[in-house]
Amino acid sequence: MPPAAMVLIDLVEDAMPSRDYFTPLPAETIQQIASYLYASHVPDKARQDTISSTRIPPKSSSDLLSLASTCKTLHQQTNNWAHHFLHQHRSITKYKDFKTAKAAAKQIPLKELLQWSSRNCVFCGKKSARSAILMNDLRCCRDCDREQWPNKITKTEALKKFDLREHQILPGQHRLSKLLAQYPGVPPLRYGTYRSAGVLTTMFLQEDVEAFAELAHGDLKGHLKKREEARLQRQLKRKLKADERELEAVEAAEAAEVGTLRDMQGNQGDAREVIVIDNEDYTDDRIRNGASEEMFTLPVWEN
Ligand SMILES: [Zn+2]
Repeated sequence: MPPAAMVLIDLVEDAMPSRDYFTPLPAETIQQIASYLYASHVPDKARQDTISSTRIPPKSSSDLLSLASTCKTLHQQTNNWAHHFLHQHRSITKYKDFKTAKAAAKQIPLKELLQWSSRNCVFCGKKSARSAILMNDLRCCRDCDREQWPNKITKTEALKKFDLREHQILPGQHRLSKLLAQYPGVPPLRYGTYRSAGVLTTMFLQEDVEAFAELAHGDLKGHLKKREEARLQRQLKRKLKADERELEAVEAAEAAEVGTLRDMQGNQGDAREVIVIDNEDYTDDRIRNGASEEMFTLPVWEN
């Protein structure tokens, strides 16, 4: 029975003679390919799922299993790679080589590797059901996530800090992304999603966003400086306007007070008669304490 890869080639290219280009590759090359298939990432996985955490179930490294299931050669090479991985990282995988060739022949390292990596952080080996934010097919504890991918920033921070628009950093989320894509040739930004208490969060690496913003704005430092100056100008204008409004309000209040006093004086003018308390001792005391004689003027109303 021909390998699946050969059948595929036959279906696509009828005229081409059936030929397997893959299995004759050097063992190191095939194992290198297997290593790339081990860690995969679906950035919008949390957007599709409603799982409220970073515990995104692994996709069972189906690409790796597919490769191993293709033919005997690839099965052997994929298992050789898995054995090498488990052995190389045995301090965390706790992998034990079988002592006899017979026992080793019964071993399926790929199965062991996939089982181990579905339950343990692939960086420190601790039990973990958590997915790495930027490589969500791998189990990864919180500490290792911080260590392996430091300087992660949220989408909101990325947009605000580098003056970008959502369609620029997440073109795949916009229906008009083809029209809005302003930077052809620029690779899409790496990102990951997770849900916390039902809220979807999108994370980027700060250095990736910074490099993208440099391309988008041309001169990032100059652009951010201009933006800051414009912000300060707007702030100053807002303050001046607020001060102006406050001053107008004070003037209006003063004018209203003067008007009220004038009205009161108009109403009381006829009834007002100046009397001076004829008590020298009392007056002298009050004057000594800073009061003037006018303070003892009282209104008198006629009956
Ligand atoms: Zn860890």
